[in-house]
Amino acid sequence: MKAWSARPVPDLPGEAALPVVQDTRLRRRVELPRQERASLYVCGITPYDATHMGHAATYVAFDLLHRAWLDAGTPVDYVQNVTDVDDPLLERAAATGVDWRDLAAEQTELFRTDMSALNVLPPQHYVGATEAVGWIVPAVERLVARDLAYRVAGRDGEPDGDVYFDVEAAGALPTDDDDAWVLGDVSHLTPEQMLPLFAERGGDPERPGKRHRLDPLLWRAERPGEPSWDGASLGPGRPGWHIECSLIALEHLPAPFTVQGGGSDLVFPHHEMGAGHCWALTGRPMARHFLHTGMVGLDGEKMSKSKGNLVLVSALRAQGVDPAVIRTAILAHRYTDDWFWTDLVLAGAVARVDAWRRALAVAPEGSAAPLLEAVRTALSDDLDAPAALAALDAWAADALTTGTPGSCGADARLVRDLVDARLGIEL
Ligand SMILES: [Zn+2]
Repeated sequence: MKAWSARPVPDLPGEAALPVVQDTRLRRRVELPRQERASLYVCGITPYDATHMGHAATYVAFDLLHRAWLDAGTPVDYVQNVTDVDDPLLERAAATGVDWRDLAAEQTELFRTDMSALNVLPPQHYVGATEAVGWIVPAVERLVARDLAYRVAGRDGEPDGDVYFDVEAAGALPTDDDDAWVLGDVSHLTPEQMLPLFAERGGDPERPGKRHRLDPLLWRAERPGEPSWDGASLGPGRPGWHIECSLIALEHLPAPFTVQGGGSDLVFPHHEMGAGHCWALTGRPMARHFLHTGMVGLDGEKMSKSKGNLVLVSALRAQGVDPAVIRTAILAHRYTDDWFWTDLVLAGAVARVDAWRRALAVAPEGSAAPLLEAVRTALSDDLDAPAALAALDAWAADALTTGTPGSCGADARLVRDLVDARLGIEL
């Protein structure tokens, strides 16, 4: 499906170093590899409740990474999915009496509008789960043929034919590869830690007939009233969530691609299982590095639809909040941290953007080059946006104290380009 548009990225003088980033799987900071092209897969939304602040913070964080690569002279092949058919979407559609296709289309469009407003660089491939069924079916058939996946008989009125991934068989594939996948490779959780998360995040540990309680669904056989697709030998049905991302990534990116990204709630089971699927299908790891963003709450509480406390980007925009301010509020936090949206966070961002804009009019001569260096240094350290913003604050404070109106247009232009290119903020 079509993605969205963002402002062209201004060119900056010189070249930035590749950033050091925190890798979840390796549990340490790593320098990103020098590559001719970087490849990035960020898990997209299930299109309902779009676009809340948690979504926005995740896509802005990976936008920061995207921009870091570009400033280091590395083009990026970027893929994002949209889970436009899945249980939560169908449940929401049923609960609100809306056709699931209409709900998905409307919420995907809202997401695109928000991403464009927030100036998040678009992926080259924005792919719906419904567009990936033709890649998923033969892959699941191959796993079944190799006994790495299996059909489960229906009980209690459930149809026969749900297909599950065998995590133990996949983890026992013969290999001498140090990067071989076994359950826990990405998340480092014990099975005892995995079970409650699996149940909470769409898994069905108690489903009778499964070989292992943590085996995830690959293909859900058709149920009355549910959408379904031709599954060839699998029979009609629809794909599971994790296999969707594995196949979309395999279709468009090399294996392993450079970075798999998403919120920290995707580490397990989503990224764990996705990596397992890729390993079982190709004998190669899914991604070289796994990066995860913290969760965003509201005023000290977890943000959720059931609590009615979702902060939506579209609602803020409708209130007249400048998207540059929303981006600044997000970037005031380390992407790896959990944080809370509050009125104070918003007010702080309003004040900062205002000061930066006023400072541009009085930019002292020679002040932009040191700021460029300071911002690049900050962002090379695991995308430390708060430090980059602090450097900008210091520059603005100095300009507002010592600068004279119209003092240096060249410096003002470079600062404006720097803030746009690296932080995606339009001053
Ligand atoms: Zn995903």
